[in-house]
Amino acid sequence: MCGRSSWSVLTVGVVVLLAHLPVTYQLPEVIKIGGLFDEGDLKQEIAFRYAVDSVNRQRILRRTKLQPIIKKIPPFDSFHASKRVCNLVNSGVAAIFGPQSGQTSAHVQSICDALEIPHIETRWDYRLRRDDYSVNLYPHPSSLSKAYLDLVRLFGWKSFCILYEDNEGLVRMQELLKTPAPNEFKVSIRQLPRGNDYRLLLSEIKNTLEQNIILDCKTEKVGEVLKQAQQIGIMSSFHNYIISSLDLHLVSLEDFKYGGSNITAVRLIDPDRDEVRHLTEDWQAGRIFYTNKLHDDDMIMKLRNMSVWTTETALMYDAVKLFVLAIQALDNSTDVQMTSLMCEGEEAWVHGNSLINYMKLVKLSGLTGHIEFDALGFRTDFTLDIVELSKDNLTKVGTWSRKTGANYTRTYEDTYKKIVDGLQNKTLIISFAYNDPYIMRKESSEQLTGNDRYEGFCIDLLNEISKILKFNYTLVPVPGNAYGARVKETGEWNGMIRELLDRRAEMAITDLTINFEREQAVDFTMPFMNMGISILYKKPQKMAPSLFSFLSPLSLEVWMYMITAYVGVSMLMYILARFTPYEWQNPHPCDPDPDTLENQFTILNCLWFAIGSLMQQGCDFLPQAVSTRMVAGMWWFFTLIMISSYTANLAAFLTVERMESPIESAEDLAKQTKIKYGSLSSGTTTSFFRDSSLPTYKRMWSFMQSTSPSVFVESNADGVKRVQSENGLYAYLMESTSIEYVVERNCDLTQIGGLLDSKSYGIALPPGSPYTSAISSTILALQETSTIQLLKRKWWSEMNGAGRCKTDKEEAGGSSMASELNLSNVGGVFVVLLGGMGLALIVAIGEFILECWDIAKEDQVPMMTVLSQELRFVFKCKGSTKPVRKKASESEVGNASNNLYGSDVYNYTGKNPLT
Ligand code: GLU
Repeated sequence: MCGRSSWSVLTVGVVVLLAHLPVTYQLPEVIKIGGLFDEGDLKQEIAFRYAVDSVNRQRILRRTKLQPIIKKIPPFDSFHASKRVCNLVNSGVAAIFGPQSGQTSAHVQSICDALEIPHIETRWDYRLRRDDYSVNLYPHPSSLSKAYLDLVRLFGWKSFCILYEDNEGLVRMQELLKTPAPNEFKVSIRQLPRGNDYRLLLSEIKNTLEQNIILDCKTEKVGEVLKQAQQIGIMSSFHNYIISSLDLHLVSLEDFKYGGSNITAVRLIDPDRDEVRHLTEDWQAGRIFYTNKLHDDDMIMKLRNMSVWTTETALMYDAVKLFVLAIQALDNSTDVQMTSLMCEGEEAWVHGNSLINYMKLVKLSGLTGHIEFDALGFRTDFTLDIVELSKDNLTKVGTWSRKTGANYTRTYEDTYKKIVDGLQNKTLIISFAYNDPYIMRKESSEQLTGNDRYEGFCIDLLNEISKILKFNYTLVPVPGNAYGARVKETGEWNGMIRELLDRRAEMAITDLTINFEREQAVDFTMPFMNMGISILYKKPQKMAPSLFSFLSPLSLEVWMYMITAYVGVSMLMYILARFTPYEWQNPHPCDPDPDTLENQFTILNCLWFAIGSLMQQGCDFLPQAVSTRMVAGMWWFFTLIMISSYTANLAAFLTVERMESPIESAEDLAKQTKIKYGSLSSGTTTSFFRDSSLPTYKRMWSFMQSTSPSVFVESNADGVKRVQSENGLYAYLMESTSIEYVVERNCDLTQIGGLLDSKSYGIALPPGSPYTSAISSTILALQETSTIQLLKRKWWSEMNGAGRCKTDKEEAGGSSMASELNLSNVGGVFVVLLGGMGLALIVAIGEFILECWDIAKEDQVPMMTVLSQELRFVFKCKGSTKPVRKKASESEVGNASNNLYGSDVYNYTGKNPLT
């Protein structure tokens, strides 16, 4: 029953191989095969006998029976080994199996080579060449070594320590030591000391903070090394092990299942495969021993309790299979005769060469997977299972083969589930720094202990996460309340980051900012809150209204423009009134024929007229001409708008209290030296200024550094106190979410300006921590269900005296509602005024020219003469009266030209169209 399926595979192989060959020959009734076993190596012998018995029982070779001839040799005794081989060949064996020891095996091999007897080995052998008449089923070290290299690459290890027992171990690791790509990884090599105490070495490894270990030692020692590693404390969830033994399934790993460390190995035999399971059952039921004709009950009991199939016993079983397959092939091609040979003789076995060639050609699937040899008789092409220790013992997570390399077969869900399972019921040490409202001491009348001593946003968040992932935690405050910064002199980290790097904590939580430098050193989860740096400062003081606050509604610029407009309009009025003939009035209306005309718009009157209009009072004289009326009209329009704007803004100014702040932004801070400013010494705000390349922040950083006493504080609470106590002489650079919390509760403080940068808080874990992805996913889930937002609202707006400063805030908000009007607000009115003035000027020139035209026509003098005469009078700008111009004929002065141009006698048309 047992092993039936493997033999059926074998039979199929034979059929395929020999399908076209005619079966004409018959094998002898008995074929002897020799087994050489080291004394005390009972397992190999039993596996050999069991395999032979299976062949015979199942009549794989039909009427031919295999007869095992077993010889025991002391290990390392070449002399006796040679003698035993000679005995075997003398009895006419068709092949020799074993032994396991390297030295004796070499002798056996050379005798077999000389006598052309196939030699089949199942032992670890790292030679690069072998004799022609031998094959070895044990995977070749060069391929195994490649498998370990591929595993390291699959895991992405950047450094690791090889812990080896003897030099053979280094051969197994040769590919890793050759370091294919320079700087691909950092390797350290340590040899396990003789004896059974490895603790010193393991604690040295612990001190190097190495997390990745490749352990190469005998299978029997693996358990002890791991046990001592656990005692030393390097079997935590941050530690990863690759065990080079192919028989890790034989080691009791129960104690290491729950430690959290990743234990990976490769194996040739899959104990869960049906064939292997059946064989195991046979072993445990004792069937194997009886078929081996072992009747010593004590021995059977001992063997039954021993673990079953090691790689080497399985290889021995497969070796017999291989022999059977090859002998069948040989049988089909020739008449096989067994010959008794002498070691000293010249004769060799005639079929030996063909038999070994068939062995090298045959491909079969055995207990140890696919078996195939290269031209040299080495097994270089094979498949390994990648196994990992989980709660359900060793589970297959991938496969390796020379062609495809190492590949995971498990899905992301499997990996995630494994991590989450690993977290369950674990107690994590969590480092934290105090900062309101993230983590605070809980005030209570009772004596609190453990985690109950703390409360805050982060504690609630942690509770939510631990509820989902089902882990426990112990909160440990970080010494010195330091968040984590790299010390410039030593390049070492301090604070919570140091705790994580030294593995004193498995998680760090508070308002811990994610930045590039920290991200290089430790792992961060997804952010749970976003913010940026801003300035915490004393709230601006209420300003006492100034004596001249009535000037505030308009800016200085507007006041200047208004004065200019006032003077300009008055002057224009004066000039236009002189230009236009219609402003020259009869001073005595009862006298129809006055000698002089009078103009009421003297300079003083013009100024008075303009100011009267501006003050909305008017005056007792008004313009008569179209042009001057246009000037007046535009001016009134201007004053109307200006006065109403002024009045409206003055009302606003009088009803609000002005606040005065000497700084409005970081630039204002950088520009001055009177107000000092600083930040948290071990925080990212400090490193932001230290590393910034913006000139303003660089300037601020050098100022902060050079200021004495130091502007840096040990905690945010100290920074807040300092802002309050230094009364406007200290500003604290703080993260906006913390500022938000502080200003809600300290009504004398406020945030100045916007955010200088944008970043986030996350939970930090040691580098390579397996829990990062699980905690990140949980944070995302909490964000999507708005749990984090609700927690924020609870701790910012509801707890610990929130909302105290609301009314103050609203009042303060009013201050920004009244601001002086500047030119951009009232510029349009000035433009309209200017336009009106220009139009009035044109009209005045028109009126003037028309008048001159009339005079020139009436007096029959050239137009130009009249124009220059009239202009001269206007620009004389003297006197407010003008003699009435008589007609030339009426003039008593004989010289008309004198009358006209040389005297002050003017023609008076006597009519004003506007009056
Ligand atoms: N959140 C900062 C950090 O993680 C501390 C506060 C600060 O630097 O303003 O370092």
